[in-house]
Amino acid sequence: MIANKLSAVLAAVLLTLSAPGFAAKTSTSTSTNLTTAEAADLTFMREEEKLARDTYLVLGDTWKLTVFSNIASSEQRHMDAILGLLQKYRLPDPATSTLIGEFSNPELQSLYNALIAKGMQSDLEALMVGGLIEETDMEDIQAAIDRSQHPDVVAVFENLMCGSRNHLRGFAANLEAFTGQPYSAQVLEQGAVDEILATPLENCGE
Ligand code: MN
Ligand code: MN
Repeated sequence: MIANKLSAVLAAVLLTLSAPGFAAKTSTSTSTNLTTAEAADLTFMREEEKLARDTYLVLGDTWKLTVFSNIASSEQRHMDAILGLLQKYRLPDPATSTLIGEFSNPELQSLYNALIAKGMQSDLEALMVGGLIEETDMEDIQAAIDRSQHPDVVAVFENLMCGSRNHLRGFAANLEAFTGQPYSAQVLEQGAVDEILATPLENCGE
């Protein structure tokens, strides 16, 4: 799994480096249309990042744990990065007029409702919700990276993935301080989670 991620990063780097004269990278006139899958992934992920931001804002306000407010700011930057791509490729923004806790995508709306209900039960449950969101994000981001053809889209997804690794480290550290137990994976394989938690916080360039 980590090997897959590394080869995806390497592929993205090689694609960038092989751009003619390095100039094409910054020129929007050379961008070709997104595939249907890329457009769907960007639309979904704009709201998936919003789900993370909104959940952390609400749970942070409820439990007064700074880990939530710190990570909510990062999720706002992730939302902004996706919005930049939606605008670049002239796609509508599903989050343009929704309030905190409101989603255009019904699947994300019901997930948000369930996660808030769980996270309201206790501070411990709230931190577990954080871990669950980050693991889910990483699974979805990796699937989107595997489907992506555009280096600029892949670069944003890789940035989101890097952020999610840091966020999982943050939630897991808080949980371990609370429980005295190592963090148990909720979505990904335990081995993949352990590899992330065994490595230090990264600079994700945001
Ligand atoms: Mn994120
Ligand atoms: Mn996150």
